Amino acid sequence: MTTYTLPPLPYDYDALEPWCAATTMELHHDKHHRAYVDGANTALEALAQADPENKPLVAGLRDDLTFQLGGHVMHSLFWENLTPEMAPPAAGLRQPLDEQFGSFERFTDLFVNAAVGVKGSGWAVLAMDPVGGRLSIGALRDHHVDLVPSSTLLAVLDVWEHAYYLQYQNRRADWVKAAVDHIDWACVADRYDQAMQLVTAGGQR
Ligand code: MN
Repeated sequence: MTTYTLPPLPYDYDALEPWCAATTMELHHDKHHRAYVDGANTALEALAQADPENKPLVAGLRDDLTFQLGGHVMHSLFWENLTPEMAPPAAGLRQPLDEQFGSFERFTDLFVNAAVGVKGSGWAVLAMDPVGGRLSIGALRDHHVDLVPSSTLLAVLDVWEHAYYLQYQNRRADWVKAAVDHIDWACVADRYDQAMQLVTAGGQR
């Protein structure tokens, strides 16, 4: 059976200093992300052995698997779309952002506000729908709720308290603004290009 493994960080723990402290990064990756990987594997194992007639058990395990695997997927995407550098998106991505949101600056404001406004634990995401290839900003509760199915996640930002509380305490907006300034737009552009190929290949445009 497939089991999930914790991917290594694509950079050192201190690579995003000073705005993301090495202590936060180490805990976030080695403890929090690992817990979702382990949780997904545990749920898979339990589901494999569950009595199909025990419907409450199966439903609970399925729900737990979605939550845990969602956490694994989101953190895997998150590490990749952060960078120590500060560089705006290149023209190929800038154009659809301008088209959809009016301007890159307006996109940034909307994305920051979505992240700051997440109630409780969750994520801000820049997503593309799988039918029209349209970009949208979303706010996900937990790791997996409030997303159009089969959307491609182009950029994700963690606003669970474990992502920032050691360093920023209750100042979530400060964390969000620092992180948004360090989104790896080259990574996001790669995801965009791959997702657009699927949309086009599906004959939906
Ligand atoms: Mn997290």
